[in-house]
Amino acid sequence: MSELFFTVQVDCEATQHALRDPGLGERAIRGLGDILAKTGTRATFVVIPSDIRVHAAIYQELQTQGHEIGLHLHPADAGYQEFMGVHSYDEQVRMLTDAMKVFADCMGRKPEAFTPGYASANDHTFPALEAVGLRHGTVSIPTRDLPQCACVWGRSPLDLRYPHRFNRSLNGNVDFVDIPMTVDADSRMWGGAHPQDLRVELVDAKNHYYTMEKAIRRQVAAGDMVPVKYLKAITHNTFEYSDPANFRRETLGKMIEAARKLCEKHQCVFTPVTSAELAARYRQLVSRPKDQQTLVLDTRGRG
Ligand SMILES: [Zn+2]
Repeated sequence: MSELFFTVQVDCEATQHALRDPGLGERAIRGLGDILAKTGTRATFVVIPSDIRVHAAIYQELQTQGHEIGLHLHPADAGYQEFMGVHSYDEQVRMLTDAMKVFADCMGRKPEAFTPGYASANDHTFPALEAVGLRHGTVSIPTRDLPQCACVWGRSPLDLRYPHRFNRSLNGNVDFVDIPMTVDADSRMWGGAHPQDLRVELVDAKNHYYTMEKAIRRQVAAGDMVPVKYLKAITHNTFEYSDPANFRRETLGKMIEAARKLCEKHQCVFTPVTSAELAARYRQLVSRPKDQQTLVLDTRGRG
């Protein structure tokens, strides 16, 4: 029986310029803390600097309960162009360093987990994350192609990985564990630009069931080729998760229940973790290569 790691990520941005509703953010994270406790699951809350400033005490509590707190970034809030993937290496290092300082002032330690807004990234992003000492996080969403958000992933890998130093869609030796969001690359949305993924608020629990089952089947069939098998769901602290009748709350509850049942069906051990625990397992089982992935042109069709 292989372990199937299950993790939830909450992107926390209730104080973002477009929303500015810290009260909603607080109700959402308290409600999520409640659901996670009731279902025995764990989450990584990635938080923008202005949210961590107002809710640091609650994040300290959530951390004590076994959840992970990391960093999320929407660069426009710090006066940059909004999308991370349009910035130079130096700009990315600078905006990350500034945001990490706010995080450290509020939490008393540096963050290790990171996710950029819109999964926006370019080929400078992973080396910049490594340079500032971030360790893991969901950066890629395989097959999400939104050039208008500087988010172009193409057929990037579906599984945990050390990214390539010069090409974000390849594997390599950057000292940062990318945790691709769980997607069904064949089910397209938004005119084909976005795969159906485990974003709680995207669809209903029945739809998520099929995405989860497809992802489990693929990983189980791959055997040892996928040494660390997982499902990663994501949501935002911008929904009324403290309301027991809230549809998103109900959806998340049903997703967790379905994930447990699917594990039984496919003979996996349902193992709730944070992103930090997931990345640590990967680092334990897969050592970081010395060299980048070597690409060789496939010439079998010639002559
Ligand atoms: Zn965001």
